[in-house]
This record gives sequence, structure tokens and C-alpha cells, in this order.
Amino acid sequence: HLPTAELQALDAAHHMHPFTHAAGLAQKGARVILRGEGCWLTDSEGHRILDGMAGLWCVNAGYGREELAQAAAAQMRELPFYNTFFQTTHVPAIALAAKLAELAPGNLNHVFFAGSGSEANDTNIRLVRQFWAAQGKPDKQVIISRRNAYHGSTMGGASLGGMAAMHAQGGLPIPGIVHVGQPHWWAEGGEMTPEAFGIARARELEAAIADLGEDRVAAFIAEPVQGAGGVIVPPASYWPEVQRICDAHDILLIADEVITGFGRTGNWFGSQTMGLRPDIMTIAKGLSSGYQPIGGSILSDRVAEVIGGIEFNHGYTYSGHPVAAAVALANLRILEDEDLPGRVGRITGPYLARAWAGLADHPLVGAAETCGLMGALQLTPDKAARARFAAPEGTAGLRARERCFANDLVMRHVGDRMIIAPPLVISEDEVDMLVARARTALDETLAGLRA
Ligand code: PLP
Repeated sequence: HLPTAELQALDAAHHMHPFTHAAGLAQKGARVILRGEGCWLTDSEGHRILDGMAGLWCVNAGYGREELAQAAAAQMRELPFYNTFFQTTHVPAIALAAKLAELAPGNLNHVFFAGSGSEANDTNIRLVRQFWAAQGKPDKQVIISRRNAYHGSTMGGASLGGMAAMHAQGGLPIPGIVHVGQPHWWAEGGEMTPEAFGIARARELEAAIADLGEDRVAAFIAEPVQGAGGVIVPPASYWPEVQRICDAHDILLIADEVITGFGRTGNWFGSQTMGLRPDIMTIAKGLSSGYQPIGGSILSDRVAEVIGGIEFNHGYTYSGHPVAAAVALANLRILEDEDLPGRVGRITGPYLARAWAGLADHPLVGAAETCGLMGALQLTPDKAARARFAAPEGTAGLRARERCFANDLVMRHVGDRMIIAPPLVISEDEVDMLVARARTALDETLAGLRA
């Protein structure tokens, strides 16, 4: 390949990166990643980097899985593409849908495929609205979501999401979407106990339903554990109360499992970890461990019966794409054969929880939280006061991310929250290495702030 500087110059000149200030790329070139193996990446300068983010929360089975390359090649030779519109289907889509019905909890037995998590959430908007309209309730159309949620970048996905910076671009949200508070006790809980705060935040949903009128509310959508918002693990009281409210008011519950699905929280799905009974689940990312772009919505029998009773005028050219489906199926076989969800639940999740909690004694760390193999460190200038950094120190998270990079660790920052979600194949030794590098990065960040 070309020398790194030339690659970076071409990249800056011609490649528009998602969520990136292009001027920054021109000043400081992007890191060029060449290959991956297990939890490790190699860049064009020969650095071996521990990937604490599994790419974008997706490479659950780890990099370098030969079986997945073979599944893709075999399917490309056999049938590289055919659609699933109208009255046609093919073996990979059938097999993957049946496998997902087997793995998904409760009565979630029907899969509508998409190319990504964003597309799947766009599907969900139309699905839940049509679900009620088809039953003679055309006014039951509003979807309630949460501030600081992330549900994708399409017009629908970004509207469901609760990111103000995204709403500000392109005139979002689209009509009929309402946001309530997130269960982020550290930042917003004030003097309340976490348990009381969890109930209070759930009751904001009930208040919104009362405000709108239950005849106007179609669904509530949420991530079992908010991911891109900063790995916000809700107080234990939150989800049971939300489930009660959805049941009491006949509001469909959509669990966006794009991050929490496929073993991340120590069960196949985060809904199982949190004790939810969703009517619809959004899936993507870990479904194929990111080896192919694929997502989907898994519907309950109840929802599928209504939607199946009409012609649902919706679909993507790549819905159930045969190569993506074949790779996803082979990936699910790996997760199952190696019991990666169980390993996270019993071994690596608890191991990370203990090691991560050890970082709570660092002067910069106000809270160290995990759920399975998702983790967050809340950076703070004053632990006791649960204080936030003010500008210009407000970039503590950004500085910490840079120090992680300098120590060959990928960790992401959301404001002053540092987050991880490593591949599910991470070993205990690698967890130790990750935590040691995180501590070094925190020490260097603190030294930089004091300088
Ligand atoms: N939903 C959640 C919870 C996500 O975290 C993401 C992506 O990070 C999406 C939806 C969007 O998925 P995609 O980027 O595949 O469109």
C-alpha cells in the first residue's frame, strides 16, 4: 500500500468520514487500520492496538474468523444476490430467520431484515404505526423515545434518537416523536437514591402517555443499556417500572438491541439481562459480528399477525441479503459453539466488573460501571460533588481518548465519559491489559490537566 502520509492525504482530500470534522483530518491524518486478529488491530505504522470498542460495538466474535470469510465466499459463488420481495425467498434468509426465532426470547418469532440498525429502526416506525392503524386506531401513532438515545442516522433513526446535535441538522425530529428523560443517575439524579431516580424516570414515560392520551401513543423505544449515549446502566428499579407502564397502557415496547444483542450483556439479548418482554427487537452489529452489513426487526407473534394480515409496503433491496445472511448464520454458530454470551455472563463480564471497579480509586474517576462487556468511566474534577468539567477542561474525555490511542488502546469518549465494549473473545489477560492501559491513560490525562 501507499505510505501512510499519502494515504492520509488522499483520505482527507476525498473521503468524507461520519461524525468527523473534516478540517481536523487535514491537520492530523486519520489512523489507517490494516488488519485485525482476535481483539487486536494493526495500523499502517505497524502499531498493535487493543480494540476496546470491537470496531463500533460490533465485532463480537473477534477479528480474523476464517469461517466467516469462507461462508461469504461460498455464498457468493452459489448465489451472490437475490431479493426477498413478493413471493421469492432463498435458503440463507430462511435459515437465519428461523435461527433468530429460536434464539430470541418469548414469542419473538418473525424477522423483517434490513441492511443496518438505522434502517431497521426506520422499519419499526412504519411497523408500529401500521400495527395500530390496521386495527382501526389511526391516531395511535406517536413514538416515545429518550433524550441522549442513539437509534441511527437516517431521518427516522436520528429522530428516534435523542441527540440534540443531530436534531439540529436537517430539521429533526420528524413529527410524532416525543422524548423523555434518560435514567442517568450520576449526571441527573441529584439528591435522589438511584432506585428512586429509576422510578422517577420511568414515570416520566407514564406522564408523557397521560399528556398525549394513551390512544395516541403507539410505542416506546429504548436501548436496554444506552450505548452511544455513554454506556448508561439504568438503576435496577427502572426497567420493571417501564415494562409495567407499557403493559398497563397497551404501548408496544421496542428494545433496540443493536449494541446489547448477541452476547454483549452476558445473555443473548440485553432484554433478558434487564428482564424485558419487548414486542419488537432491533438487531444489527453483532448479528454478523460486523463482517457484513445486516440488521433487522424481530417481531412478536402478536405484531406479526397484524402486519402479516396486510401488505406492508416496505422493504430494502438488501433485506435478507444472501451473503450477509450466510455470514450472520455462521457468526451465530460461532457465538453458540463457543458459548460467548455465557462466557460473558459467567466469566469475562464479572472479571471485567472487578478489574474496572479498581479504577474507581483514580482521582479523575467519579464512577466505574459495567454491564457484561460494556463499561464506562465517568471523569470528574470532584467525585464527592459529582461535578462536571467546565470548559476548557471539558475536553478531559477527548484528552483521555488521545492518551488511550497513544498507549495503543481504542477507547471512545462521550463528553467526559470513557466507554468500552471489547470483542466478546477477550481473555482475562487482555482485560488486565486493557485496564492497565486505561489507568496509564488516566494518569497521563490528569498530568496534562494539571500542567
Ligand atoms: N441503534 C443503536 C442502539 C445503535 O447503537 C446504533 C449504532 O450505533 C444504531 C441503532 C444504528 O445502527 P447502524 O449504524 O447499523 O445503522
